Amino acid sequence: MKLTVVGCSGSFPSAESACSSYLVEADGFRLLLDMGNGALGELQRHCGLYDLDAIFLSHLHADHCIDMCAYFVARYYRHDGGPCPPIPVYGPEGTEHRLTTAYADTPTASSMSEVFDFHTVKPSTFDVGPFTVHTERVRHPVEAYGIRVEHAGKSLTYSGDTGVTEALEDLARDTDLFLCEAAFTHGKENIPDLHLNGREAGETAARAGARRLVLTHIPPWTDPAVNLADAREVFDGPVDLAAPRATYEI
Ligand SMILES: [Zn+2]
Ligand SMILES: [Zn+2]
Repeated sequence: MKLTVVGCSGSFPSAESACSSYLVEADGFRLLLDMGNGALGELQRHCGLYDLDAIFLSHLHADHCIDMCAYFVARYYRHDGGPCPPIPVYGPEGTEHRLTTAYADTPTASSMSEVFDFHTVKPSTFDVGPFTVHTERVRHPVEAYGIRVEHAGKSLTYSGDTGVTEALEDLARDTDLFLCEAAFTHGKENIPDLHLNGREAGETAARAGARRLVLTHIPPWTDPAVNLADAREVFDGPVDLAAPRATYEI
């Protein structure tokens, strides 16, 4: 598997990065995890507009899904060849309604489903192209999922947005690469069931036995070096900060 960080800024875009979006590729299949603000532009650095094969949305906060409205335009009004065939989109209950409303119900309330084949995510295991995918409900103010993607004996686990939860620890058990949010700073922000801080991300990785930790979703107003140091204090394995255009072979 190859992971490419398309965007990793938390909550709102930074000057350097779009919001959450990660491209996972194997056997020529492209699965995109989240499409937050600015991600569609960045994505075109890595593949063609119409080269995606499936999209997973961890939850329906704008910083994880709002560029799906822009992607609707690109697929529905495609200049050469007319509208694109529907691409599978896996998201929480209400994804179609959320995106349709954000796009202001035009041209019709069902237009989105002409180019997106919506599937409702529940905690489960299913196949997406060559990948086996496990989803688990995580702790966030809205219905939100973490995802584990497996291929050829390797795994990548992405937290989405979450507070501390055993569900994430189970999902990331012995995972090869744990892409984990660390939006808060230890000792500074402590709102339960909203986000992890660097220390909590590191502790979750340690308890899960993850082999490698990549911290992501750090907002522009947060010092990433502090979160990185906090994670390294409690997790012995390699820890990186996600960066736009970074790639990992898993
Ligand atoms: Zn977020
Ligand atoms: Zn969120």
